[in-house]
Amino acid sequence: MTDALLTTDDLVALLRHRGRRVTSQRLAVLRELRDRRGHASAPEIFASVRARLPGTSSPTVYAVLELLCELGLARKLELGVGVALYDARTEPHHHSVCRRCGDVADLDAELDPARLLTRAREGGFRPDGAELVVTGICAGCAGAAG
Ligand SMILES: [Zn+2]
Ligand SMILES: [Zn+2]
Repeated sequence: MTDALLTTDDLVALLRHRGRRVTSQRLAVLRELRDRRGHASAPEIFASVRARLPGTSSPTVYAVLELLCELGLARKLELGVGVALYDARTEPHHHSVCRRCGDVADLDAELDPARLLTRAREGGFRPDGAELVVTGICAGCAGAAG
């Protein structure tokens, strides 16, 4: 699957296949994550989902996000912005992070991490892969600074 974003029907099928209940909250959280096509924190997702489904609690949203990660439908990113972000794009990719506003964007570029992985293995580490975080100032903040 090239764009790695599932439809609601896919999620329903997957939840049933795994013997998990299909709930309106689970569908709403996935829809929210997918519609953003980007990176959102649990509190941001909670605020949007609660606007649609007023009975939704914050712990429920956290639990659904963990479930989506467990099912391979989302990834949790720790990018040093002070809060974990959830990404509906699950294939490995790199990110840029703005030091000023915290904006996170996808970076699509080839990276050859062979030397990094070799060094990691030398220490007995078993790497799964390597993804890069490029830090700096985003275009918006650079423009605002004049
Ligand atoms: Zn910025
Ligand atoms: Zn991303």
